[in-house]
Amino acid sequence: MEHVAVSPWVALAYLVSGVLFILALRGLSSPATSRAGNRYGMIGMTIAVATTLLTHSIASLPEIIVALAIGGGIGFVIARKIAMTDMPQLVAAFHSLVGLAAVLVGLAAYLNPDAFGIMLPDGQINPVSRIELGLGIAIGAITFSGSVIAFLKLAGKMSGSPILLPGRHVLNLGTLIAIIGLVAWFTQDQSAWVIATITVLSFIIGFLLIIPIGGADMPVVVSMLNSYSGWAAAAMGFTLHNTAMIVTGALVGSSGAILSYIMCKAMNRGFLAVIAGGFGAEAAAAGGAAKEQRPWKRGSAEDAAYMMKEAENVIIIPGYGMAVSQAQHALREMGDVLKKEGVNVKYAIHPVAGRMPGHMNVLLAEANVPYDEVFELEDINSEFAQADVAFIIGANDVVNPAAKTDKSSPIYGMPVFDVDKAKTIFFVKRSMGGVGYAGVDNDVFYMDQTMMLLADAKKMVEDIVKALQH
Ligand code: NDP
Repeated sequence: MEHVAVSPWVALAYLVSGVLFILALRGLSSPATSRAGNRYGMIGMTIAVATTLLTHSIASLPEIIVALAIGGGIGFVIARKIAMTDMPQLVAAFHSLVGLAAVLVGLAAYLNPDAFGIMLPDGQINPVSRIELGLGIAIGAITFSGSVIAFLKLAGKMSGSPILLPGRHVLNLGTLIAIIGLVAWFTQDQSAWVIATITVLSFIIGFLLIIPIGGADMPVVVSMLNSYSGWAAAAMGFTLHNTAMIVTGALVGSSGAILSYIMCKAMNRGFLAVIAGGFGAEAAAAGGAAKEQRPWKRGSAEDAAYMMKEAENVIIIPGYGMAVSQAQHALREMGDVLKKEGVNVKYAIHPVAGRMPGHMNVLLAEANVPYDEVFELEDINSEFAQADVAFIIGANDVVNPAAKTDKSSPIYGMPVFDVDKAKTIFFVKRSMGGVGYAGVDNDVFYMDQTMMLLADAKKMVEDIVKALQH
């Protein structure tokens, strides 16, 4: 393919889709407008895909349609079948595919530069395109192997706790410097060994960067990999001379980076420390997990119903277990009944509750919990002192006071809800043995004002609703 001048109509269509993607991001920034945001995104993507199909020049239309049908078919079936609780690992798996696609496009362009319009008359690849290719393949490969590890950790197929290799910081830094050096070398020498070594080293560094990360740092990693997948796509947009891909990739890359930064701040974590991985984890590996035999109290659905009916202020703290048991609809019903009794009900959402950013917000919105009853950590944390009841349902790490007091804990430094300030605490989980994602014991179980409600979250809330209605 020679360098074809882009038709103004194509440029306009890509511009419109770019604007729609920006509107989509704007919409997604608030629960109230997120549906509209999603719609903008879908329209933008339809315009971008249709324009690309109409102006295709590398493959033939039937080939593209067959590929679309296969990929789209697989995506459709997975999206229909996936349980909401498996969403986080699905997102990680999809990120890995974006990374792999970037690597494959990069290698295809390297092997057939003429078709991609990046070949100089002397048969060499344009040096600027070599930088794009080298970086695109490197970022893509890091995204791929990093996301595969994130997938395994989120799916529980690999331990969520940090796996620490000796000398990992030196190893990681050395590998990163080698990759950057090779990309620079590639501009001078386009031999196959250079690009092959970049690819292999990048796969390895993606793996090395993510395995030491555990506990409370995982959410940041998920949004960071999201960001990497955007940059990988943007780099490939340059190779493919596709403005829509560059714009979309850059939007995903920068919004993911901003989200990672916000999450780091919310978690009290240094961005670089998270990227380097496994900081503070040595102490955790030594000191964590040990379970003590301490007295605790068991409550019943009737106890909870009675206490909450009598309460003035109830704060509900949902976590991952609510998602597992799909208790959000029953929970909303419980909130409705309590409100009818004159109780002031609020929901408190921690930035990393659940297993993906916004996890709890999505579930509560699905159950039609009014947005004005849902509060972020920093907006509600001071209210626990006035709360009669803190109702913890399937949350654990996000209410663990060890984050404030125990320096050896893997969640140390993460801000947590001050549930201990509430007069009464109800803690819904299935067993005393089960731990949260970070795998550590929780002092809240043994506090004087705590009653453990041991059952599946949905079943427990349904029983409480029944008890409230009698
Ligand atoms: P946790 O993972 O700390 O705790 C989950 C709790 O739910 C456990 O106490 C578990 O106990 C209980 N539970 C599980 N299933 C059920 C059920 N069916 N019914 C009732 N209870 C149930 O959840 P949090 O939301 O508090 O914390 C999130 C953790 O996940 C943090 O450590 C965070 O760093 C990490 N993380 C967050 C991500 C994000 O983006 N939000 C991404 C990756 C990790 P039991 O088994 O006894 O029932």
